Amino acid sequence: MDNINKSIACTVTSCKYHSDSENYCTLNNINVGTHEANPTKSECTDCNSFECKD
Ligand code: SF4
Repeated sequence: MDNINKSIACTVTSCKYHSDSENYCTLNNINVGTHEANPTKSECTDCNSFECKD
C-alpha cells in the first residue's frame, strides 16, 4: 500500500505519485513553482514534482 501524505491533498490522478485510493500525494514533500513571470492566481502555479504515470 502506498504512503498517503494527508498534508498534501491532490486530485491529479495521472501523476505517478498520486495515491490511487484517495486524493492525496504519496511523496513526503513536493516542489511548487510557477510558469508565469508574475503569478496572479492558482492556475499560474504548478506542482514541479509531477511525473506522468506512464
Ligand atoms: S507530485 Fe504533485 S501532482 Fe503528483 S500527486 Fe503529488 S502533489 Fe499531485
